[in-house]
Amino acid sequence: MRKKGEMYKNRRCHDCGVEEGELHVLGCDFEGCPECGNQAIICYEHCVNPDGSFKEDFLAGARYPYIIIPVACARCLKPYPDLFHADDWDEVVPPDIRSKVLCLGCYEFVKDSRHRSNRKSG
Ligand SMILES: [Zn+2]
Ligand SMILES: [Zn+2]
Ligand SMILES: [Zn+2]
Repeated sequence: MRKKGEMYKNRRCHDCGVEEGELHVLGCDFEGCPECGNQAIICYEHCVNPDGSFKEDFLAGARYPYIIIPVACARCLKPYPDLFHADDWDEVVPPDIRSKVLCLGCYEFVKDSRHRSNRKSG
């Protein structure tokens, strides 16, 4: 099985294969719109004409190069934790962390602590 971390470790765009710091190959799935951040190839407002060709403004220097933003566990900072699905995520994880990433170990720590401390007080 291919882990998500490996896809970033080789530091090339997963779709078009450019290296970090270069512009994506035109039409790459991973290129974001420089204005709104949506996928460039489907942003008809800023990037693509109705006929599917790229807009002149988009081509004329508005694009950003491919930069890798690492994903890390918000608690232990372990890079690229394995992703997992937790049915009780919203119950267990405090609101300020819900939109972030936790590794499984930290998630279980948060869950255990929450259950333990709530038992104590209740
Ligand atoms: Zn790309
Ligand atoms: Zn846009
Ligand atoms: Zn962690």
